[in-house]
Amino acid sequence: IVSGDLTDNEHEDDREGSLRPRMFNQYIGQKAIKDELQVYIKAACQRQEALDHVLLYGPPGLGKTTLAIIIANEMDVAIKTTSGPAIERPGDLVALLNELEAGDVLFIDEIHRLPKIVEEVLYSAMEDFYVDIVIGQGPTAHPVHFTLPPFTLIGATTRAGLLSAPLRDRFGIVAHMNYYTENELTKIVERSADIFKTTISLSGAHEIARRSRGTPRIANRLLKRVRDFAEVAHQDKVDTSIVQYALNLLRVDDHGLDETDRKMLEMMINLYDGGPVGVSTIAANIGEEIETVTEMIEPYLMQSGFIKRTPRGRIVTQAAYEHLRLPYSKKQ
Ligand code: ATP
Repeated sequence: IVSGDLTDNEHEDDREGSLRPRMFNQYIGQKAIKDELQVYIKAACQRQEALDHVLLYGPPGLGKTTLAIIIANEMDVAIKTTSGPAIERPGDLVALLNELEAGDVLFIDEIHRLPKIVEEVLYSAMEDFYVDIVIGQGPTAHPVHFTLPPFTLIGATTRAGLLSAPLRDRFGIVAHMNYYTENELTKIVERSADIFKTTISLSGAHEIARRSRGTPRIANRLLKRVRDFAEVAHQDKVDTSIVQYALNLLRVDDHGLDETDRKMLEMMINLYDGGPVGVSTIAANIGEEIETVTEMIEPYLMQSGFIKRTPRGRIVTQAAYEHLRLPYSKKQ
């Protein structure tokens, strides 16, 4: 049964919404997490209890939001979605909690960015389903006690280490999302092409998968662009050659690196002889925020073996020199 509570997410981006898997059987990959969650969901449903709180962590675009929506659908409960920076004061959190019914899911994206005062209110809400807050200011200030229905908090973050220990410890279920394999991404591309009613060859889907940095959101984005190229070229089937043509124009190389990735590697090679370079120096030199480097650019470069992290900073590997066709002379 698909619950009717997907509207919040669908408003964000209708096309993205239509690609979002709604139930586990449409969610490709992350098998270990899926298997585990299905057991906990079944057990919670049998006991007619709320599911324990869930923490999902992993790089952006791997399907954390999607998974939270699926959990709510599989539990057949409603889901409210928000994000850490959007909850500024304890009162904002209480307002959200107040709207929940027994068993509902509250999804907080970027939960590591919750203000400390809000986080502290969340502790008792998660543990014993109540909150105590002070309402009013000065002489009229008075404490108020709210009891809450049992609910499930699903938190998403790029790295579990960004969370304070007391918050992390209150999640009964912790799931680490991994990058997807090429085969899984190929299936995701085929599924999305199907939804778009686009015909794509297996090798074309695989070519997109190979260049998607292990990330479904990127795979879907590249598919949309490739489809545009195919339509304009009046090709009714997306094949490898049109994928290669389109992705080369988009400057996505055959390892899935984009211009920012290459800019970072080339900068480290040209200015710092391949490193070690500190992350703040990297960020300043390529004009990005430190967080963008550590959360979005670096994890995939590290996973692909193009940079290494050392106590003195980041180092470009020989594989990266070879990929960029630059002479590797430095012996680290
Ligand atoms: P962020 O943390 O940045 O919000 P996210 O990890 O929550 O990212 P989602 O928004 O859930 O990522 O997923 C991005 C898109 O990728 C979804 O719209 C969905 O279409 C697709 N997607 C994600 N995971 C899967 C999957 N396992 N199977 C099929 N499609 C997926």
